[in-house]
Amino acid sequence: MLFGRRRKNPITLPDKGVKQWKYATCGYCSTGCAMEVGLDANGNAVTTRGVADAPVNQGKLCIKGITEASIFDATGRGTDPLCRDNYWDDWRTVSWDTALDNTAAQFKRIQAEHGPDSVAIVSTGQILTEEFYTLGKLARGVIGTNNYCGNTTLCMASAVSGYKRSFGADGPPGCYDDFEHTECLLAIGSNLPEQHPVIYWRLKEALEKRQFPLIVVDPRVTMFAQFADIHLPVKPGTDLVLLNALAHVILAEGLADEQYIDAHCNGRADFEALVARYDPLTASKICGISADLIRQVARLYGQAGAAMSIWTMGINQSTHGSDGVSAINNLNLITGNIGKPGGTSLSITGQCNAMGTREWGSTTGLPGYRSLENAQHRAEIAAAWHIDAARFPAFRGLAMTDIFPAIESGQIKALWLVATNPMTSMPNTERIRRTMEKLKFCVVQDAYADVEAAQYAHAYFPASIWAEKEGTFTNTERRVNLVTRVKPALANSQPDLWIFTQLAKRWAHAADMPFPDTASAVFEEMKTLSTGVDVNGAPRNLDLSGMSYAKILAARGLQWPMRTADAAGQPRLYSDGVFPFPDGKAQLLAMEWHDNNESPDEDFPFWLNSGRVVEHFHTRTRTGKVGNCNKFSPTAHMEMNPDAASHLGIEHMEYVRLVSRRGDAIVMVQLTHRVPHDMVFVPFHYHDCVNRLSLGLLDPHSRQPAFKQCAVRIEKTNQAEAARLNLEMRAY
Ligand code: SF4
Repeated sequence: MLFGRRRKNPITLPDKGVKQWKYATCGYCSTGCAMEVGLDANGNAVTTRGVADAPVNQGKLCIKGITEASIFDATGRGTDPLCRDNYWDDWRTVSWDTALDNTAAQFKRIQAEHGPDSVAIVSTGQILTEEFYTLGKLARGVIGTNNYCGNTTLCMASAVSGYKRSFGADGPPGCYDDFEHTECLLAIGSNLPEQHPVIYWRLKEALEKRQFPLIVVDPRVTMFAQFADIHLPVKPGTDLVLLNALAHVILAEGLADEQYIDAHCNGRADFEALVARYDPLTASKICGISADLIRQVARLYGQAGAAMSIWTMGINQSTHGSDGVSAINNLNLITGNIGKPGGTSLSITGQCNAMGTREWGSTTGLPGYRSLENAQHRAEIAAAWHIDAARFPAFRGLAMTDIFPAIESGQIKALWLVATNPMTSMPNTERIRRTMEKLKFCVVQDAYADVEAAQYAHAYFPASIWAEKEGTFTNTERRVNLVTRVKPALANSQPDLWIFTQLAKRWAHAADMPFPDTASAVFEEMKTLSTGVDVNGAPRNLDLSGMSYAKILAARGLQWPMRTADAAGQPRLYSDGVFPFPDGKAQLLAMEWHDNNESPDEDFPFWLNSGRVVEHFHTRTRTGKVGNCNKFSPTAHMEMNPDAASHLGIEHMEYVRLVSRRGDAIVMVQLTHRVPHDMVFVPFHYHDCVNRLSLGLLDPHSRQPAFKQCAVRIEKTNQAEAARLNLEMRAY
């Protein structure tokens, strides 16, 4: 007789007929899981599996990675270049030469009439680093527009800005291995189990070996909050108050690392004077966390031998996102928790290669974390690209969130969208729709021809997806990993690198510039630009010179800095306490909290919070077409507190109309105590949903929108009509 588990039916995995496995790095989130894609006898991608000896994921994948093979042949893939004269005309299938010639001619015509910056480019966090570098060369060195940005403005811009203001440069200083060493973990605005499941698994592994306090700050009782030792359900938009109060207690109770502050930080006096006003009692009245709990958490953090903070969009997507990031950095600087095992300030990035564009994309500066404002940096890149340094402006142009208002006001006439979908991702969809209609010329470059933004395009470039190409991604812990060409590009689609280099040939002056047409050659060029000294006279941190594709593949990913003489990359930055400011010291920043966002009132009595679910990625361009992802949440839904629902006579699974001052959306109600009485939560992935309602006021430093705070009311609606609208939306 069989007992226990042995009595159950064994799990049998269907034989998918895999004949060959090929290496890649997952193309969804920034965790950076190494995987292999299984190909059948006909070369079709039929499955994926995690790579057991990969340092990041050690064989694990989440639902998105497990189902990633099906995106190669998903519906809606673009097969041929398309053109049309007006966005309301039918598409014409054209050759690549025609599509590229026409686009170059339109850009040149518009720039001749309206100036170089009248053409804007918005890129992504999805393509390969070598492609980002080449696009930056094309945008800044050839086309010559300063209005070039990435959709990472919607995602990580506050982290970039906060790192630069505190430490002098971008670049997360910690790594996943810090979970193994920390004695206290503070997670703010991050629902790790759903957003970055494999990083969460790393944390759980560490917790199973050794207990340490896990503190989660989030207005919702997220899955992460449910697993926490302490949950701080902070009032939306008041995280800066809480962080200042934690610093107040640490300084007031003598828990700060005075030696570290004296040796490595500037700005102590102003910072101390500012946080003196954020005593726990005063702070508790604003942020909703009791004074005792603030003191308890501050003591846990301040007394830990090593403490670390992680955060995601709950901090970044705010009117004071950059200040929130710097406030986290303040906390770690005053406790000496930077650059040591288990002590760090680790932003958990969003997209698979958001780091690649930050490092090499030239959107906010120049390659290798160089800045447009620095004349020497401009000269270095101009020399490498064989152009006159005067081609570079001495300041950055408009951020993505300022590009759309500039289209609205007529300053920008043409837009090139690369693997980004503002029709779903930008706040206030109706305003974006009207804005897109004003463009004289719009190019959409995307693997999917049915991406919503293509409705307004005059040209469509079908791009190859992730593992139809070769190149590198950088993950959240600065680990560079390889994507190999698992299978050929679909139909007449082309790798983004090919599209960029071919388009560059349409400008005569690009003939003298180096435009390598293989990813490995581009990587070698990037390596030469990654060496040298920083503004503090120390070697650059973003140094890739010791890497090669072969070494990356053998190690399943390597972290920068990895200098020529290094056998492996470095897991942490700033371990020597030297920061990339001219005097080598980090900056403690004094930041006042301002109540400057929309809040619930009598007419709109609920906070609208938004975020992700584990089975979907961003605007569902891919996961919406993967049956095993989409089946879990095919419909736009809203978490609502049962008591609040009962008060309004609303039932579970009922459709309701959600209304803000910007617009309305139909959602299906899911009753749950995860949200408080005065808040609703809607996943942001769905088209024509949460961003029809969002306000999206901008952070003054990062220009990132405050997606997570606005006020809404809930109205009953006709169920049959709502179901019909919902079905139409799903069919779209
Ligand atoms: Fe891919 Fe992120 Fe899932 Fe890993 S955690 S498999 S990188 S989506």
